[in-house]
Amino acid sequence: MQPKFYNVINDELRGAEKTHQVTDPRTEEELWPCPTATIADFEDAVAAAQAAFKTWSRTTVAERQALLVKMADVFKEHAEELSSILARESGKSKIMADIDIRASIAQTLYYSQNALQDEIQYEDNHAKVVATHIPLGVVCAICPWNFPLILSNVKVVSSLVTGNCVIVKPSPFTPYAVMKWVELSRGILPPGVFQVLNGGAELGAQMTLHPGVAKISFTGTIATGKRVMASCAKTLKKVTLELAGNDACIVCADADLAKTVPAVASGGFFNAGQVCVASKRIYVHESIYDEFLDRLVQEVERSYAIQEDPAAPSLFGPVSNKLQFDTVKGIIEDCKKNGYKIVTGGETQPRKKGFWLPPTIVSNPPEDSILVQEEQFGPILPILSWTDEDDVIARANLANAGLGASVYSSDLAQAERIARRLEAGGVWINHPERPNFGAFFGGIKDSGFGGEMGRQGLLSYVYTKCLHFKKD
Ligand code: NAD
Repeated sequence: MQPKFYNVINDELRGAEKTHQVTDPRTEEELWPCPTATIADFEDAVAAAQAAFKTWSRTTVAERQALLVKMADVFKEHAEELSSILARESGKSKIMADIDIRASIAQTLYYSQNALQDEIQYEDNHAKVVATHIPLGVVCAICPWNFPLILSNVKVVSSLVTGNCVIVKPSPFTPYAVMKWVELSRGILPPGVFQVLNGGAELGAQMTLHPGVAKISFTGTIATGKRVMASCAKTLKKVTLELAGNDACIVCADADLAKTVPAVASGGFFNAGQVCVASKRIYVHESIYDEFLDRLVQEVERSYAIQEDPAAPSLFGPVSNKLQFDTVKGIIEDCKKNGYKIVTGGETQPRKKGFWLPPTIVSNPPEDSILVQEEQFGPILPILSWTDEDDVIARANLANAGLGASVYSSDLAQAERIARRLEAGGVWINHPERPNFGAFFGGIKDSGFGGEMGRQGLLSYVYTKCLHFKKD
């Protein structure tokens, strides 16, 4: 039976006159009709959220955390259904789609146990100041397509545990699993607290303008992020922007290649490179460059080859949509046009159907090439060489991006020294970039504004209010 999808407003399912269909990236088959929310739907959702906020905002942290446990149960009880929908719309293999579900469960349970508490900020014989955290109001979560559930869920659970109401807008490239998740969650929270609307740039822009919305939590490209921020300024909305990265990965001369090569391959090609913190530029010490490159090519050809069967246990997949497919193809063609050395991959039409591109490795393209300077967000990786620590750090630090980075070395003091000088929101040592629920995650420079996750992330979903007690 064909699944059906609805906007969820005030806990009710709502269809729409206008629908759109997503193209399955593996096969290019058209998927199911998905209702596009109207401006009237959005107004209704804001009104429902504002009404719900009056009582929801007065619930205790403990009450909200108990409900998050039930929210996690929705993922557990409907894991197969959600995973199969997610796999179809995103092109992920079954095991990759399952990762989205499992991580969403873990993320939800993390916030069911970790939240902001009141804290004494000052105390002496005369005064005591207690900081308390109060919710903002209605949050709109505007989401990308690469990890549809995890990246929506972090905004949703952060909003809910802090006492906000949340309206989630999935990417129009991957709306289905998020819509089904909100539909299946009905009845757990009071109506109006958790809603979903499907739409694209127009709906997103309306969210950033609406005076009844207190905060936008946005994840996406830098260009859209700048538009979101400019638009939010009109109503002084709080705004968190999680934007693109162009992560440098530095491999030192003494790195343990048996461990480093598989880790770098995973950093670059997990989910076909469609990860905000994928390793996107690999700098390898000249003394081990040739051996590293040989071993990386072998590892990538062995572990990240195209496997069309979604049941195959592959961490690699097609590019998730035609727009991104064309962008990555354009980067491969630019490498070919300029005569850069492609050591594996490089075909731009390896299969008759689907947005497939093979894992592609380019040896020593120029530092100013598009592949090195722009975020590729797909399965193509430049491998560059370095000799001098100051020089590689200068090349790694870009003026326009600073999301993540990674360093591989057997000398932890050297790795830490380099990590501390890398201008990025997170640096992973002897490990590919993988966010941790308990740790703040955000980009510096153009890669973001603020951040999410961990205790510090929750602070962006609240006002901090101080209660000043006078002592006699
Ligand atoms: P995008 O900017 O095209 O779209 C993101 C969302 O914004 C979508 O829901 C879209 O409908 C909406 N939108 C578009 N125009 C809008 C407007 N004017 N106002 C409000 N909303 C609007 O990004 P994308 O292609 O979906 O996502 C891929 C990008 O996201 C990559 O650059 C990737 O690095 C980045 N990303 C960053 C993180 C992070 O945490 N920093 C995580 C995942 C992805």
